[in-house]
Amino acid sequence: MTDLKKLADQLGNLTVLEAAELTKMLEEEWGVSAAAPVAVAAGPAMTAAEAEPVEEKTEFQLILKDVGPKKIDVIKAIRQVTTLGLKDAKDLAETAGAKILDGAGARELEPSLLPGVVGAVLFPDDAHVIPDRFVRGLARLAEAGGVRVQTDTEVLGFRTRGRRIVAVETTRGDVEADDVVLAAGSWSPGLGRALGLDLPIQPAKGYSVTYARPADGPRIPLMLGEAKAGVTPMGEMLRFAGTLELAGLDFSINRRRVNAIVRSAGQYVRGVDQLRMLEIWRGLRPCTPDGLPLLGRSERIENLVLATGHAMIGVSLGPITGKLVAQLCAREPLAIDLGLLRPERFS
Ligand SMILES: Cc1cc2nc3c(=O)[nH]c(=O)nc-3n(C[C@H](O)[C@H](O)[C@H](O)COP(=O)(O)OP(=O)(O)OC[C@H]3O[C@@H](n4cnc5c(N)ncnc54)[C@H](O)[C@@H]3O)c2cc1C
Repeated sequence: MTDLKKLADQLGNLTVLEAAELTKMLEEEWGVSAAAPVAVAAGPAMTAAEAEPVEEKTEFQLILKDVGPKKIDVIKAIRQVTTLGLKDAKDLAETAGAKILDGAGARELEPSLLPGVVGAVLFPDDAHVIPDRFVRGLARLAEAGGVRVQTDTEVLGFRTRGRRIVAVETTRGDVEADDVVLAAGSWSPGLGRALGLDLPIQPAKGYSVTYARPADGPRIPLMLGEAKAGVTPMGEMLRFAGTLELAGLDFSINRRRVNAIVRSAGQYVRGVDQLRMLEIWRGLRPCTPDGLPLLGRSERIENLVLATGHAMIGVSLGPITGKLVAQLCAREPLAIDLGLLRPERFS
């Protein structure tokens, strides 16, 4: 305790609490009875019945239905009592319409959570998808709307005249277009260089491990607070994902990192060591220096739109990005101001 207090003094903005002080704070500031197995709360804790999931209501309802997800709740499990955890929970509850659950409430809603889980934040408006089915579903809808989707085609370079792209050179011939959208994730810098653009995107490798979902496995997607890992039920499958490795355009699999994701999930969810593994996967998240995407029309190339650098949330941001790209190409008014996302802001 003395060492902790010394450390807190050195760091300046930390407070170390004795158990009794913490109990008092929970009761006075957070309205939580210390007799209950509660650790994170920003108001009266909800029961699971009060936290019933709400119906999905988005303009992408059709697509979401098409790809199968039914549950739209995300619960954030916070195992340790820290002042940071309490503050996070309170801020989230205030700003994101989240609801605070105590440990018992979290387990009532998601029975696969272990007794060590002391609290959770429920996001009733969140949605989740099965990514590959979502993308295939979108492609099907686009094709039905007249879009030609050309797979297995690699962009090799560009034919330009002045400040315009005349054609995109691919392994299946040249493609001419009024506007070209560069949306190649972690590979965008290489393609941008061919156009004289310097796009500071760094690939950040992440892994997922997919298992057959047991009948009593998690039903609600979980973000595991301290572990920074996600647990997502996907129909018959259960997927754990996490870690962030800066290793360039490298697809090798670091088993130590994969094992760490699974080990950390086992601290929150019961029965992890009994699961039947189906697949280990890795992907590269395209990260920018300020954490924001590069989205907008290029200042250097007149008919180029960039839509890249979506880092950790490219699936979530995909729909609004698609809408904005369509508005940019159609030269329509934009749904939001893209000033902060200017693609050449680092040049
Ligand atoms: C483990 C993990 C978990 C994640 N979890 C989430 C999550 O829960 N929610 C979320 O929102 N996001 C999540 N993400 C992030 C998300 O996957 C990315 O933000 C998103 O994939 C970026 O989309 P993108 O289309 O810009 O790039 P990418 O998905 O990387 O797609 C780029 C495409 O361009 C293609 N390409 C590259 N070069 C060429 C070329 N020369 N010619 C033709 N094609 C080319 C590539 O083959 C690729 O298909 C996760 C990522 C990882 C790794």
